[in-house]
Amino acid sequence: MHIGFIGLGIMGSQMAKNLQEKGYLLTVYNRTKSKAEPLLKNGAAWASSPAEVAQQVDVLITMLENPAVVEEVALGKDGFLPTLSPNTIWIDCSTVNPSFSKKMGNEAQQRGVQFLDAPVSGSKQPAAEASLLFLVGGKKETLTKVEPLFQVMGQKAVHLGETGKGSAMKLMINQLLGQSILAFSESVSLGIAMGFDKKTAIDVLLKTPIAAPILNVFRDRFDEDNYEANFPLKHLQKDLQLFADTAYEYGKASPLTNTAKEVYALAKQKGQGDLDFTSVFKYLNE
Ligand code: NAP
Repeated sequence: MHIGFIGLGIMGSQMAKNLQEKGYLLTVYNRTKSKAEPLLKNGAAWASSPAEVAQQVDVLITMLENPAVVEEVALGKDGFLPTLSPNTIWIDCSTVNPSFSKKMGNEAQQRGVQFLDAPVSGSKQPAAEASLLFLVGGKKETLTKVEPLFQVMGQKAVHLGETGKGSAMKLMINQLLGQSILAFSESVSLGIAMGFDKKTAIDVLLKTPIAAPILNVFRDRFDEDNYEANFPLKHLQKDLQLFADTAYEYGKASPLTNTAKEVYALAKQKGQGDLDFTSVFKYLNE
């Protein structure tokens, strides 16, 4: 099976590496070619455009920043979708909104291409260790055809229903993630103002059942003020924006998400967009 991989950032580079290590034939494209070098050194082929990737592959995987970028790379100048052969499979692992996944699913279907939205739960380390969880929307029989690829890049792929359902679940997860870190940061910030040292405030909060379990995973970052990006803050802000947009589409209010997304937007405006999203703690504690 010949795999095309487009989008070799923090996540895509690791996912493609895992496919390569298991012997899959890879053709890759990334806007910034230097990020492809480790894969090229180990035998992957370089394509000079998304369309060129599409000429050669059975399955094409995208792991790109946001819906606008996915649309541009799929359907813009030298986009891959018009070039993919009928019956090939496009797996979009980017975090996007469900209505966008449905739109891409329709574009694919019109060309006879099978489509899965398959965003991931897990960050840089799970991507490197191939322990990602894939949240999949689309036809079950399409998922079955590419299940071995998900098993190489992750621990599991869960089928959540029709096209868009993977993206829907991903936005729900990241909405909770963004809120958890934010609520914790605000609590510690007031704790420090009330006279607790940072360590005591964090120690006690994290020992209560009130704290989200994920906060313990990030503990070192808060202790050491180390916000090197595993998951860039600008991407989490994008995900909260997409959640709010989706709530609007469904006629649902999302008051907490709308507040939270603007705190992340302020942190981004202050220059923290390329730091890890957990740096919202730093933003509220400065
Ligand atoms: P990243 O390191 O910022 O990579 C983004 C990718 O999109 C890069 O390949 C980048 O190309 C490409 N890109 C951005 N703008 C582009 C444009 N205008 N034209 C063409 N390509 C463009 O991000 P990431 O962390 O790997 O995340 C990728 C996706 O996975 C995002 O949707 C993110 O929300 C999601 N995600 C991330 C994590 C995480 O922990 N990092 C976890 C789960 C899901 P260049 O290399 O040229 O910049």
